[in-house]
Amino acid sequence: MPSKTIFPERLVRTIELPRNEKGIPQRVPEYFGQNVFSQRVMQKRLSPADCAAIEKIVSHGGKVEEALAGRLATAIKDWAIEQGVTHYCHWFQPQTGSTAEKHDAFLDFDAKGEAVEKFGAWSLMQGEPDASSFPSGGIRSTFEARGYTGWDPTSPVFILDSENGKTLYVPCVFIGYHGESLDFKTPLLRSLESIKKQTLRLMGLLGEDTSKLGIVVNVGPEQEFFVIDKQLAKLRPDLRIAGRSVIGRSPSKTQELEDHYFASIPSRVQAMLNELELELYKVGVPLKTRHNEVAPCQFEVAPVYEACNVAIDHNQLLMNLLKVVGDRHGFQVLLHEKPFAGVNGSGKHVNWSVADTNGRNFLDPGKTPHDNIAFLTFLSAVLKGITDNEATLRASIASYGNDYRLGANEAPPAIISAFLGETLSKILDGLESGKTTNVSAERALLDLGVGALQTLRKDNTDRNRTSPFAFTGNKFEFRAVGSSAPIGYPVAVLNAAVASGLKNLSDRLEKLASGGKVSEEKVLAVLGEIARETKKIRFEGDGYSEDWVKEAATRGLSQNVNTPSALTALADPKKTAFLVEQGVFSEVDLKSRVAIQAERYIKHQMIEFRVAIEMVETGVLPASMDYLGGLSATAASLKELGTVNPALDQARQVAELVNGLAAALRNFKTSIDKVMAPGALDEHHLLATSAKIAEEVLPRYAALRAATDTLEAVMPANVYPFPNYGDLLFGGY
Ligand code: ADP
Ligand code: MG
Repeated sequence: MPSKTIFPERLVRTIELPRNEKGIPQRVPEYFGQNVFSQRVMQKRLSPADCAAIEKIVSHGGKVEEALAGRLATAIKDWAIEQGVTHYCHWFQPQTGSTAEKHDAFLDFDAKGEAVEKFGAWSLMQGEPDASSFPSGGIRSTFEARGYTGWDPTSPVFILDSENGKTLYVPCVFIGYHGESLDFKTPLLRSLESIKKQTLRLMGLLGEDTSKLGIVVNVGPEQEFFVIDKQLAKLRPDLRIAGRSVIGRSPSKTQELEDHYFASIPSRVQAMLNELELELYKVGVPLKTRHNEVAPCQFEVAPVYEACNVAIDHNQLLMNLLKVVGDRHGFQVLLHEKPFAGVNGSGKHVNWSVADTNGRNFLDPGKTPHDNIAFLTFLSAVLKGITDNEATLRASIASYGNDYRLGANEAPPAIISAFLGETLSKILDGLESGKTTNVSAERALLDLGVGALQTLRKDNTDRNRTSPFAFTGNKFEFRAVGSSAPIGYPVAVLNAAVASGLKNLSDRLEKLASGGKVSEEKVLAVLGEIARETKKIRFEGDGYSEDWVKEAATRGLSQNVNTPSALTALADPKKTAFLVEQGVFSEVDLKSRVAIQAERYIKHQMIEFRVAIEMVETGVLPASMDYLGGLSATAASLKELGTVNPALDQARQVAELVNGLAAALRNFKTSIDKVMAPGALDEHHLLATSAKIAEEVLPRYAALRAATDTLEAVMPANVYPFPNYGDLLFGGY
């Protein structure tokens, strides 16, 4: 029924580009970052001494004194008010997957009762939103539900425009009364501390002067998403409510012609991306690439990489603005990992590297033998961290949405491994076989073929797309992250895993040091040990193949195919000890994270289940009954006429399918009731309940979908009560 009526011509929205006083469109550098309280703005409004103090805190950590915070707050307020801002908000990342903000007006009253605008040190530094409505995994009961937002000086404040007003955003952490982390940013900032400390320690042992050195983790997240016409999406309760289609049969064509990837961007989507870039540039998000992805209606954008914490805030902003700007253009943007069965899902490839403040990338091989040893040492530490903590890393990317994608031959498997490429693999194999002992470091490096490191980037251009964690020349690409994931969490776990790998190496080297320094020969010997210990995580083959699943089992790598099983690692103190040791999570934090992740899994699944039931019960079943009614009447009339009776067979077939659907629905509902029995959501049962959903309910959910999709195939298009996959994927724009 909808298919006949829902395709009116949609107009492309025209974007107003910023113009100068003469009415000439501005160039991007003229407005890039114009809504950010940047260093440049700060230097104009604060004394050089204040600027230096703040910059030192940003690069080396430390506390902002109240007086300084007061002067800074005034500068920020004046700057914001000049641009027409009326409100400010503390902007934070509770464990809901999106960001949260509570707005306060600058409006206040002086002693005489006159209206004034105020924004003082404490307005900048601390807020106290009621935390009881945010997930906490039971670590706080509601009577002590206080949570505090605290300004994060390492991510700049910015102004967000909307058609009808402007708001100042202050990036914040969100913590409980006793310092428990309630968000994704706090552990991230802690992980940055630990990886910085451990990198400096290791480089010191390699004989480098680290006294003046700062460390920067760089992150560049590639973001995939689907863009669906809003009018069509509105007619589907599943897209509206769950952001994903839960029923629907594949159309005649999907992605087999490989004609969408890198094809020209449809003009309506292009207009939306132009406006998205404009909005993002104003708040300093350096979006760089945009292109069509593999599936119909699927796209990707990526920024230029930035310092980790800022990059992650910017990815949150990107996800928020994708939805807002998409809406202006008449689209629903789907960030879900698997919006449509039968076509590729979406991920987020998180590119990651570590550099020092002189711009040297530790994952970039150098020109001298010493540089190459430093490179191989850092790389080995990364591999060690991943090998020892692979199960926990897997848990950090676990979500109900990502379960549909990982291991589905379109994304990496749910087994964590690392791809290095041919050159590096050869070198590590050489180190592993101990060829390097008893010769000079220089000789050993030559034997290992380290000269070939210069060509690493070329070597890795033809990357292994099936690897969850691939080395791509001068960075790792963490490719198993879900498209809707707030990346603060997986990156915090990755940073902590690497920090623990770095620590492991430093501990060994320290024992071999004389005068605080280790000889290069001894370093190479330790790298040989590490190469042996990390061999099991290195995999160069096809991650999609069945053989890999078997081989990974013999290697002893964990294989957690779904979120509930992945979460067991997070509940195992042995597997999370490194997170506690690196100061990223406390034991209490970890308990709450397991509970929250399990609970979110259950809640997301239940929402989908209810939507699926609603769509079948109030849509597909009644429509198919009507159709069956009509068919039976026709069959009866034809019988009376005594003619051939094609309606009879059709009626019988449809009756069978409707009956099958009704039975599948009953089974599905019964299994839900059984799993969600009283007590299922008690804090201590959450993990077990999530596992039961995966094991007992999901197979019946799949059976329900198969039954309704089979019925859809025999129903007339004007009887099927929702826009179908063909409408959604090929009729939108
Ligand atoms: P592709 O799709 O070919 O993998 P993209 O251009 O879409 O590449 O994305 C690559 C991402 O990696 C970009 O965000 C880029 O800025 C980022 N990147 C490049 N070099 C580094 C690095 N040294 N550290 C972290 N991220 C990086
Ligand atoms: Mg890309």
